[in-house]
Amino acid sequence: MRTVIAGGGLVGLTAAASLRLIGHEVTVLEQAPAVRAVGAGIGLWPNALREFDRIGVGERLRALGAPIETWFYDPAGRPLRAAGYDADDHRFLLVPRPALSDLLADRVGRRNIRQDARVTGFTETDREVVVHLADGTDLPADLLIGADGVYSRVRAALVPGSDAVEHAGHIAWRAIVPAGRERPRGTVVTVGPARTRGGYAPVAPGRTMWMVNQFDAGRLDGSKRDRALARAGHLAEAGWHDELLEMIAATPEEAILENRIMLVPELSRWTGRRVALVGDAAHGLSPHIAAGGTLGVEDVGVLRSALSAERDPATALARYEDVRAARFVRVREHSAAVEKAADAAEFAERYAAFSHWMLTTAPQT
Ligand SMILES: Cc1cc2nc3c(=O)[nH]c(=O)nc-3n(C[C@H](O)[C@H](O)[C@H](O)COP(=O)(O)OP(=O)(O)OC[C@H]3O[C@@H](n4cnc5c(N)ncnc54)[C@H](O)[C@@H]3O)c2cc1C
Repeated sequence: MRTVIAGGGLVGLTAAASLRLIGHEVTVLEQAPAVRAVGAGIGLWPNALREFDRIGVGERLRALGAPIETWFYDPAGRPLRAAGYDADDHRFLLVPRPALSDLLADRVGRRNIRQDARVTGFTETDREVVVHLADGTDLPADLLIGADGVYSRVRAALVPGSDAVEHAGHIAWRAIVPAGRERPRGTVVTVGPARTRGGYAPVAPGRTMWMVNQFDAGRLDGSKRDRALARAGHLAEAGWHDELLEMIAATPEEAILENRIMLVPELSRWTGRRVALVGDAAHGLSPHIAAGGTLGVEDVGVLRSALSAERDPATALARYEDVRAARFVRVREHSAAVEKAADAAEFAERYAAFSHWMLTTAPQT
């Protein structure tokens, strides 16, 4: 089967590696001049690691990243332990994004990835799908996987009117810095007043990632560093998190990532006869549940499994859509519940409920 994947991000590259396992001839079309993820670190949960094991990169991934348990604290530094949940519900692998992207691109095979190749749309029939590119050329294929992120052109053609919308006022700041300022326990995430969360975690040997998020962030004044520091101030009470403030203050302005969070609306369909959406293209959500990438990798496992079980692509894609759309009804409910938590304790409890649910109900593909 000739399969074109629009987008060489985390999910597109994983899809390419995974579908090659079942014999697809894969071409990844990436609009950027290089396949290299922008960003700091990403937390990958065990349900994603299973797919990475399957495509043969799990061991190297574990060597690249740092296994962490993320527990929440209140702004006075008191640990928040959600009753009924344990370390398994809080444990993931934190991996530097550029290294992850390099590892996956090597696995896919660089010759199978075309850079500077922007997809603008497609035309599908029962027999094939023709992928349209911005340079005016067309690429015929048997299958098109839209892994082109929240601003997906494939989604725009498949589900007109499904543009991503801003998660009003929700901003995230992050950077990776040399380790050395953090507390010995290594991983600290605090839920503070003014709808602020933040902290830090080891992301690789000798390197620490800090992050600060705020819902309803209001006016943004000053430099990115000033803005992040203003929010991190909510998390620092009586000396708790002084080290986070120091880390941010010492981070060069150009190393700080500041993202407005975008959301993909619930879609009326995820697939066509020969087209399927995966990852953020299908379900870009707020990162306050820190699992969008992980769930995108889960999409890939379900898609691979459906395509290897069914000869007819349309039947396989329909099966994929049934499974994933149903799962995302629950993901959206959990995400909303975490977002609406009234205080730090409720946030920690609802977050643990989400991760426990995600891990214990993950598809076995
Ligand atoms: C602050 C923050 C923290 C997060 N933390 C976590 C976490 O800890 N754990 C987790 O699991 N998830 C996390 N997420 C979510 C995760 O980052 C995303 O869900 C994941 O990166 C989505 O991957 P993707 O491949 O679907 O999309 P993307 O990473 O957006 O990749 C899309 C790719 O497609 C390319 N592209 C776009 N349009 C076109 C086109 N028309 N033609 C060709 N190529 C195109 C882009 O250049 C890009 O390379 C976080 C998100 C944010 C914002």
